[in-house]
Amino acid sequence: MGLNQFVVEWPYPVNYDGINVIETDVLVVGGGISGSWAAIEAARRGAKVVVAEEMDVFSAGPAGCDHWHNAFDNPACKVTPDEAIETMERYVMERGIPFNPIGRYITYNESFKTLLELEKLGAKIRDTEDEFKGAPFRDEETKLLYAYTYDVKCTLRVWGQTFRQALYAELVRLRVPLYGRVLITSLLTEDGKIGGRVVGAVGVHTRTGEFYVFKSKATILCTGSFDGGLRIFGYLGYGFYSLHSPSMAGVGHNAAWRAGAEFLGIDARFRRGTGHGSMPSYATGNPSNTWYPCTIVDADGKEIPWIDPLTMKPVSSIEERVISDLRGYKALGGPPSWPETTPISHAFFIPSVAQDFLERVKRGEYKLPLYADLPGMPEHERRAIFGLMVAQEGKTWIVYYNLTRAGFDPNKDMLQSYWFGGRHLDPIANLFTSAHGGFIHDWDFRTNLEGLFVAGDACFYGLEHAGAAVSGRWAGAKAADYAKSVSLGKIDWDQVERERKRVYAPTAKTSGVDWRELNVAICTVMRTYVNDLSNEEMLKIALKWLDELERGEAEKVVARNPHELTRTLETLSALSNAKLITLYTLERVRRPNLKGFLTMILKSSGEVEFVVRPWRWWLLPPYAPTYRENYERHKPW
Ligand SMILES: Cc1cc2nc3c(=O)[nH]c(=O)nc-3n(C[C@H](O)[C@H](O)[C@H](O)COP(=O)(O)OP(=O)(O)OC[C@H]3O[C@@H](n4cnc5c(N)ncnc54)[C@H](O)[C@@H]3O)c2cc1C
Repeated sequence: MGLNQFVVEWPYPVNYDGINVIETDVLVVGGGISGSWAAIEAARRGAKVVVAEEMDVFSAGPAGCDHWHNAFDNPACKVTPDEAIETMERYVMERGIPFNPIGRYITYNESFKTLLELEKLGAKIRDTEDEFKGAPFRDEETKLLYAYTYDVKCTLRVWGQTFRQALYAELVRLRVPLYGRVLITSLLTEDGKIGGRVVGAVGVHTRTGEFYVFKSKATILCTGSFDGGLRIFGYLGYGFYSLHSPSMAGVGHNAAWRAGAEFLGIDARFRRGTGHGSMPSYATGNPSNTWYPCTIVDADGKEIPWIDPLTMKPVSSIEERVISDLRGYKALGGPPSWPETTPISHAFFIPSVAQDFLERVKRGEYKLPLYADLPGMPEHERRAIFGLMVAQEGKTWIVYYNLTRAGFDPNKDMLQSYWFGGRHLDPIANLFTSAHGGFIHDWDFRTNLEGLFVAGDACFYGLEHAGAAVSGRWAGAKAADYAKSVSLGKIDWDQVERERKRVYAPTAKTSGVDWRELNVAICTVMRTYVNDLSNEEMLKIALKWLDELERGEAEKVVARNPHELTRTLETLSALSNAKLITLYTLERVRRPNLKGFLTMILKSSGEVEFVVRPWRWWLLPPYAPTYRENYERHKPW
């Protein structure tokens, strides 16, 4: 017996020569929230649909959801969708924070309706067991629970762990073929041309390594958000604690980019930090999102004051944190997309507050570490935070299970907080930049490429869970209708062969560079040179480095089994995406006074073209001049 006894054999039969060809009306790439909804809606309309998902569709994507956002269409909400979009636009103009007006407005009108659809599929959205009877965030008649602003009622607290099962059961009931563990690496275009009609996609099985060719009349890109943080800026140590799916690697984005889809907003101007720094997301106390409106105290039990970021006035009571009216707002306590934009939870937007706090710590006014004071919260708030929200958010049932099993008792224990006002007390976690790009789409969620639709966080500036569900449904309906009007396009088999050659190249080597090394190198370049402080010089150095990696290490990367091949292909995408982020950031730096929306497209010549779309392009011809008209005109039901 030698050392070989410890070598674990790859447990699946590997067949890099195998090719599977599948024909369908609608191909859904990515089986997370938007993908599942898109497939359900297209199948209900009689289209032949298949889903290709890199992971397992049953548990694809972040899975849970504790906040159902932007439900301005729910009867109890005090703000109408039109008032919400008006506020949002004003806020965006004032602060220059980008958003997706089409996706938002449609979501504002469809969010609650979609949640009711989800309930019909078996998801739990109401407090049917009366656990929170009498709580100020509960509507006693409907048993719905609200979050953030209890008087405005545009966000609901929900039992998100039931959502994926409900969607999965419906996909199975509709007999939608689910191609799990298939990583889509490239889109196919008519005649293999950049900018041509999308006629399908190809991918590789992450266990057997077999190749898949999907021929489709319509394709919907539902591959989630563009990974600015994990594989491009944060690899090793940070980011993977974030509960984000490791498959969020931007492979779908890269495939659509190479086909000629119009990209928006991928500059790395924002320093976001990574989730909760070096600790698992939501497993530490904090005053934001899932933990809102938790009181935070210092090591001596001294309360950290809350501040209203719009008025900069102190917020004195817990009630004021959750009732906008008490803070003097008629309707919204902040912009509708971030109704939680109250106190320190989102002092992210007011760095001065965070900075001031840290200065006070240095002066000895507050003593670290900080703690989330769950025992000090009213009972219904405490139980809503720990037990409802922590447990339903993303994959936080693991956090809930482990903390509870370890003896954590929210009635008497505080949980340490490593995070303050959008800043981490772990300084390294503050260093990461992020890019949040996505694809431009019209009011039908159609991209600039014929045959290609987009939904969810792959859309420009993302849409969150409710928006992913709404846009998935909408795009599914539109893609099904489109598929009825066209026949299958012609596959260019040379394009398929070129992609096969590219995909399997790393398997042909016996030694070389490991994907992790390449990934670390990409992150190092990006963290060093591409951030909110970047100037032309730095960005050009980054491009030089990335170019060298592309021509050097990327050519030498080796994959010894389908798992390594998957990670390698993701890393190669990350490298290509890193270049796109850098190019885009360079263009932004060169145009400091740019008004409008900067997009980039790969032209058929292979050149990258930058386009400036005017402010409110979504209400200019060929679209109608008002949000409502566009919504009514394009509504698929
Ligand atoms: C921990 C956590 C908690 C969250 N909580 C909330 C919340 O409470 N409320 C809220 O509104 N939002 C929440 N979000 C955000 C929300 O989950 C996302 O906005 C939503 O899931 C986006 O849906 P999507 O379909 O666009 O992407 P996803 O649900 O991420 O699905 C994308 C899918 O595409 C697959 N995929 C990617 N690339 C490929 C490829 N090349 N080939 C095949 N498959 C591919 C991925 O494996 C993934 O399953 C949370 C996110 C996280 C990470």
